[in-house]
Amino acid sequence: MEELALAIAGASCKCVICQSPLSIFPVYLDQAGSICGRCASTNAIQSTWIQNLSYETIAQFVKFPCQYQTFGCLEKFIPSKMKNHENTCRYKQYPCPMSSCTWIGELDIIFDHYADVHANFILTDPTFELDLINKYDENYLIQDENVTFAFHISFDNKEGAFYYSLYCIDHYKIGNSYVYRLKLIEQFGSNVYSLPELPVNDSEYSSFNKANAQKVFVKDIIKELHDPLAVVCTINIERNVVKARKLSLQIEGPESQFLNILECPVCHEYMIPPIYQCLTGHAICNKCKELVTDCPECRGQIGNTRNFRLEQMAEHIEYPCKYSGCSFTAKPDKIKEHEATCFLSIYDCPFKYRTQCKWSGFHSAILDHVHDQHPEDTVELPVIVFICESLDNLNYTEYNILPACGQLFMVGFCYSDFQFLWTVQFIGPKENAKNYFYELDFKDNSGTDKRLFVKRLCCPLTDFDEMFDDDEDVVSLKHSLLQPLIDNGDLIYSCNIVPVS
Ligand SMILES: [Zn+2]
Ligand SMILES: [Zn+2]
Ligand SMILES: [Zn+2]
Ligand SMILES: [Zn+2]
Ligand SMILES: [Zn+2]
Ligand SMILES: [Zn+2]
Ligand SMILES: [Zn+2]
Repeated sequence: MEELALAIAGASCKCVICQSPLSIFPVYLDQAGSICGRCASTNAIQSTWIQNLSYETIAQFVKFPCQYQTFGCLEKFIPSKMKNHENTCRYKQYPCPMSSCTWIGELDIIFDHYADVHANFILTDPTFELDLINKYDENYLIQDENVTFAFHISFDNKEGAFYYSLYCIDHYKIGNSYVYRLKLIEQFGSNVYSLPELPVNDSEYSSFNKANAQKVFVKDIIKELHDPLAVVCTINIERNVVKARKLSLQIEGPESQFLNILECPVCHEYMIPPIYQCLTGHAICNKCKELVTDCPECRGQIGNTRNFRLEQMAEHIEYPCKYSGCSFTAKPDKIKEHEATCFLSIYDCPFKYRTQCKWSGFHSAILDHVHDQHPEDTVELPVIVFICESLDNLNYTEYNILPACGQLFMVGFCYSDFQFLWTVQFIGPKENAKNYFYELDFKDNSGTDKRLFVKRLCCPLTDFDEMFDDDEDVVSLKHSLLQPLIDNGDLIYSCNIVPVS
């Protein structure tokens, strides 16, 4: 069985189309050989292909290497888990969106590749001159909030129409949480033709075809803009926030009706106390009150009058998280806190306080960023060695990212005043921090069985300078207590993350 498993996972069984292991099902058999599930989903299934069920029966229990093994991925999975991993693998190889280009590479270097080879096709602003005369088929690259988009536009001069679609290159991690809108603007005039707002296409960017693209006729543009020879096109990309709230709101009945009443007339988000009102009684949210001088509904004055009755009712409502794809709901006092740290919100670099790093991006991209830009601050293994030399007048702090249990943690360590201090903070939605313990396990390496073990709950991420403020979350051990465990000047311990069961 072992040998068979090795043969299956090894070189002997490869897909005839993509040369990858047959590690994604369904696997088909053809005269030429076997075809893997990746290729079966991107190629039309032929009538001569037969699903190889006997192979699948055996191979379903075999752990295969990831198809990006040669690029550095060391992970292994059984076929049912493989697709999900390969789609989000940090070594995933992305083909250049330019169809004539054969380059492939990791997500974070596509932009550099474009800058090197297709610099004219990077859209900054993002704005470009729209050509409505010659036939073309272009793939532009756009970067917005560290998310990379591919914009495909194709003009058919015979048909007198153009087709376009915007894709998120990394759509498996980000999903369809963006919307976009094209605006066509006269270069020598003031007319603007706004095309409809659309969700970012949630399929692979290489799958562009006229059938799944948006179509615009030149004759319709001419109706709105006088000179179709001088048209500038801008692309507005936005997080799909407010609409997402509505979509995620599956609750029927009085609760959802009440939420509708709580919709702010200006920003359309659900109002969270404090809620203000105009002299006539129209409600407005706290944020928008600062931005407008008179009521958007009756033009009446907005002062500092609060709508306490509405606020009281709002206290009892479960608000949905504003991010598309998140199903979290909470009472108004907790929902803002969640949204600030929701997995789908935009995170700053966890080291911004120390390094002034300006990076920001999705939670799912933090680990890659830290690996690339702050490699000395990541601990992959929970075993930590601290070299205790000349501790006497030392004041020392250190912060490390620890990936564990499929989550990310910040391990803070500090030595000052003959005290060792530790804290482990959860990077993610605040309310999830208490789902994890951290355990510090100090072993004496000199062969005796002296041992020290401490366990605490993790807490939510704070600023670096507040990390050791809360005694409850901090492990504090006197130097004299740990001294017997220091071996040859090394303090060796492991920091393990354990889910609260
Ligand atoms: Zn294949
Ligand atoms: Zn992988
Ligand atoms: Zn290219
Ligand atoms: Zn508002
Ligand atoms: Zn009013
Ligand atoms: Zn959320
Ligand atoms: Zn950074």
